[in-house]
Amino acid sequence: QPARNDAPETVEGLRRVSHIIAVSSCKGGVGKSTTSVNLAYTLAMMGAKVGILDADVYGPSLPTMISPDVPVLEMDKETGTIKPVEYEGVKVVSFGFAGQGSAIMRGPMVSGLINQLLTTTDWGELDYLIIDMPPGTGDVQLTLCQVVPITAAVVVTTPQKLAFIDVEKGVRMFAKLAVPCVSVVENMSYFEVDGVKHKPFGEGSGAKICEQYGVPNLLQMPIVPDLSACGDTGRPLVLRDPTCETSSRYQEVAATV
Ligand code: ADP
Repeated sequence: QPARNDAPETVEGLRRVSHIIAVSSCKGGVGKSTTSVNLAYTLAMMGAKVGILDADVYGPSLPTMISPDVPVLEMDKETGTIKPVEYEGVKVVSFGFAGQGSAIMRGPMVSGLINQLLTTTDWGELDYLIIDMPPGTGDVQLTLCQVVPITAAVVVTTPQKLAFIDVEKGVRMFAKLAVPCVSVVENMSYFEVDGVKHKPFGEGSGAKICEQYGVPNLLQMPIVPDLSACGDTGRPLVLRDPTCETSSRYQEVAATV
């Protein structure tokens, strides 16, 4: 896929980033951060240079999901740029690493903060920057999509009808901004007991979105207790157990971006 970073308004620190992937959901709690982080580490394990921007200012999850040695963003005094935190070879920027009273916490407005993280971080050379978007389709999301030349979007949803109504808004937002939505991850799609699939949240919302909006890839991610446990202990499942079935599902997601 061609990168879109030759846009004249490209933020300086993003100039050497080839692909910018927005991982988005329209509701909180559907597994957007879990998807972002496991996707990022899957790409890294495939040999790519990867960064994650946790743009969820209200509830940053990254500080719980990974455990870097130095969990604080540093500002280079000479250049005024922010240096991402690093964990297992992936560069990470999250509001949750800003520390209290830090120099980068100037503006009170969410958009201002995200803008600051976006425009002053020096990402260096990256193959992929994964943006863990704030949930929803409001001003913050719109601004982000306008400031950053997003290459592709991955939309995360759950199988319920309620989720469908919301996720539709997200897909429409990306369509309006001419950002191709490459895949829908239907998370917590089912769980399996003795070879039988159980679908506690119903089914069909992912397929319906793909059909209706021409999204080429639908990936169904089961309910996996280990995914949640790893998220809570600071080491993503795909790093802990790269050969398990869940890790191979994330490889399928990675193949779509
Ligand atoms: P969001 O970023 O959309 O708010 P999170 O990624 O933080 O959602 O996920 C919400 C909760 O659900 C977390 O505790 C996470 O570990 C858990 N979770 C997400 N996806 C799965 C899954 N497929 N199986 C089991 N637990 C999951």
